[in-house]
Amino acid sequence: MSGRIAGKIALVTGAGSGLGEATAQRFAEEGAHVVITDINAEQAESVCQDISAAGGSAEYHYQDVTDERAWDTLVGMIIKDHGRLDIVVNNAGIVIRGSVEDTTLEDWRKTQAVNLDAVFLGTRAAVKAMKGNGGSIINISSIEGMVGEPTAAAYNASKGGVRIFTKSAALHCAAEGYGIRVNSVHPGFIATPMVENAIAAAPPVEGAALLERVNSEIPLGSMGEAVDIANGCLFLASDESKYMTGSELVIDGGFTCH
Ligand code: NAP
Repeated sequence: MSGRIAGKIALVTGAGSGLGEATAQRFAEEGAHVVITDINAEQAESVCQDISAAGGSAEYHYQDVTDERAWDTLVGMIIKDHGRLDIVVNNAGIVIRGSVEDTTLEDWRKTQAVNLDAVFLGTRAAVKAMKGNGGSIINISSIEGMVGEPTAAAYNASKGGVRIFTKSAALHCAAEGYGIRVNSVHPGFIATPMVENAIAAAPPVEGAALLERVNSEIPLGSMGEAVDIANGCLFLASDESKYMTGSELVIDGGFTCH
């Protein structure tokens, strides 16, 4: 098996769609065996089949990333079946729009549970599994973990939490000499079902205006593609980034330069 991460065992959460799907595909193209997890079984199984049809190696398991016990079960199974875990991408996420005034406590907690608590659970489980061999943990934050958005109060808070939590975990792993690197990725606006659904959910005039505003504010002129983020994850997963830990990889068409 050849490729930039040949022979590595990689876990990608939320890999049934969007950025997780593209990342799982790139990892498989570069020689990794990819464990795909998601709550959307139909979509994730289809991603798995596509990878196999293209000559890659993948398996799917149902996983709700907010379930603490399921993390132990899943990682235990990966170690039992493959003997190791080299790469974990904590990618699954949700967006519930709302300002500080109109976000309910329920929506706030749901957002933190999927976007932040689960990244903690996934990172903790990965560190435990990787301790002996080293590895790379990639936490998907957002540019919205760096800059504010008036209608994304809960999302902003969750992604900002992922950004700084990643640095804490990176420092701990470095201090312990585990050989585990922990980095965050900060996508800008990328055309995936998450963004397309948010635009579709807005009233028609507002949705079109939102799309126009977003595109006009991106220095490179338009939204990115899922593969742009997948390529960043591939770099962080591979030994090409061996001197990077606690870093923030921003992939946003220049959006945060303003
Ligand atoms: P997406 O297309 O909606 O894909 C997310 C996947 O995660 C879906 O398959 C979703 O399943 C799954 N999921 C949701 N809750 C889950 C849970 N509790 N456990 C396991 N899986 C769960 O979104 P995306 O755009 O690819 O986003 C992926 C990540 O990138 C997220 O963390 C997001 O915040 C981040 N991000 C995206 C953008 C962007 O522009 N697209 C920008 C910055 C950051 P269902 O479809 O059934 O809900």
